[in-house]
Amino acid sequence: MICEVMKKDEFLAIIRYLDRNWSEPWKVEAEMIKLLNESKMPRLVELGRTPLPTEYGPMTYIVFGDYATGKEHDVAVFGKFDGKKLRAYNYPLVRIHSSCRTSELFQATNCECRQELDSALEQMSKEKKGILIYLDQEGAGNGINAKLAAYRNTFDLKNGKVTVKKDKKGRKLDIYDGYVKAGYKSEHRDFDVAVAILKTLGIRSVRLMTNNPNKIEGLASKGIKVKPLGIHIKPINEIMREHLLAKAKKLGHNITDKDLK
Ligand SMILES: [Zn+2]
Repeated sequence: MICEVMKKDEFLAIIRYLDRNWSEPWKVEAEMIKLLNESKMPRLVELGRTPLPTEYGPMTYIVFGDYATGKEHDVAVFGKFDGKKLRAYNYPLVRIHSSCRTSELFQATNCECRQELDSALEQMSKEKKGILIYLDQEGAGNGINAKLAAYRNTFDLKNGKVTVKKDKKGRKLDIYDGYVKAGYKSEHRDFDVAVAILKTLGIRSVRLMTNNPNKIEGLASKGIKVKPLGIHIKPINEIMREHLLAKAKKLGHNITDKDLK
């Protein structure tokens, strides 16, 4: 019975919190950050760490709990890592990667997230050093509900094939149109939590694998020295090519024509 483990009003408060955190995670996050700051509480708690054998080589796998979002963020540290701090890691290779369950779990081919993740892990494996921060931040920070709605606004299933919907003028829609049509912003992410993770690990400088200028600015503005490293992803189909093009046009990502061929 509920009353044996928690009071009913606490239970209902948790249910309301979960509902809001699924539907408007960015609002819950902003409110929680305000309360955490007022309470002088840290945003992150380390939930644990362990050595882990992987196809990319040995890593130290660390998980942080995020009080602002209720989410868990994963960190893979490649290289010799004995202590709590990584001060010796001067400008290490770093990838800050937002989760993309559709591509990483279901091998969806409309976006480049899985290739970016693989490419980052391969490069860290080659250098035998690097830090991959995997943020539980679905749907550009809008949440998984928003991603589902945006994809539904963008894709159709016709004759057993997924096709891209068009607007009244016959122009193909992109995922960002899909978000806006569903009442969301194209981008709700900020990278403060990544900064908090880097600082917790003692890292003050990074070679950052990204094409996203907002990510570079997000770190640099919080005192992390950033040397940006572009990622070159070849689109594997027309839908992905158009997605990358939309990313460059609408979010200002540094994706060149060469990448898109
Ligand atoms: Zn993706």
